[in-house]
Amino acid sequence: MKELIYERPGNLDVIKVRDAKEAEAAPGEVTVKAEFGSVNHVDIWGRKDYPWHKFPRRFGSDLSGTVEDPGKFSDFKKGDRVVLYPIKFCGNCERCLSGNENSCLSRELFGDHTQGFFAQMINVPERNVIRLPDNVSLEYAAALPVAYTTAWHGLVNRAGLKPGTSVLIMGGSGGAGVAALQISRAFGARVFTTTSQHWKSERLIKLGAEAVFEINEKLPENVKKSSNGGVDIVFDTLGSTTIPLGIRSLKRGGKLISIAMTTGYEFTFNLRDIYSNNVDIIGAYLGTRGDLYEVIRAVSSGAIKPVIDSLFPFDEVARAQEKMENRAHFGKILLKF
Ligand SMILES: [Zn+2]
Repeated sequence: MKELIYERPGNLDVIKVRDAKEAEAAPGEVTVKAEFGSVNHVDIWGRKDYPWHKFPRRFGSDLSGTVEDPGKFSDFKKGDRVVLYPIKFCGNCERCLSGNENSCLSRELFGDHTQGFFAQMINVPERNVIRLPDNVSLEYAAALPVAYTTAWHGLVNRAGLKPGTSVLIMGGSGGAGVAALQISRAFGARVFTTTSQHWKSERLIKLGAEAVFEINEKLPENVKKSSNGGVDIVFDTLGSTTIPLGIRSLKRGGKLISIAMTTGYEFTFNLRDIYSNNVDIIGAYLGTRGDLYEVIRAVSSGAIKPVIDSLFPFDEVARAQEKMENRAHFGKILLKF
């Protein structure tokens, strides 16, 4: 079988398609035959030389497929259609026991802190395998675990999204940005969003955005004008360049959700904008298994139809990552295994 690896830290040329032996499943693991994966920014960060990255390393955090071997004790059957929850969690710590696997005290993200999912055949702990309803396609399923689950966790689980809530999405056209827009609209929220590329504005409006803004110093003022004094929630997918603008776009008592750091890690802000305004700043690292399940149900019910940008054969993953790095995509980029 083949797997996708980074030979060493670096640019697209370190991506290799490698022949690998199928490993024997450990007790408690289920063997899954890969069908679809999807590309995330975390895959691209994974090429960087972070201290916890060992090379060569397999990458990939979003995968759907079918059960090839359920193992001795699981109640899966061969052929079951499944999607993988991308966080390795202990199941026994105080966070896991309260249903917050994404805050597990020994948490690892498959594809970042530990070997990723992108192989034609993969062994995964049974508790990371989630069965799909018949009407949720494997294509759609592969789009959900990172982008849609993170958006759901931040907006619904942490920020309490409700009908009538106003939401500003920073970085509206990537996988998580589009997911946040669709989830907000499914809840009957008002959505404002941003993009730096004109062709994407029309698509954002079509998905239900009320207005699309450019990201610049005038953004908070423009948002406040359109939203009656500021938004209830800012969903930030970009990082240090947009978070200070996001804080200033909030209504008093608003919440800012930070889910990524593509544009950098550090920023400065005026504390008066936080404490005087009763602002909450929320870090949302992926989501819980429950959040992923809620997203699957939302897709199954027809409330959300994931936006797929394009589909590449898995061995052309370098082209797929290049498209993402060039921000030439709208929604999720899929890989076919
Ligand atoms: Zn735990």
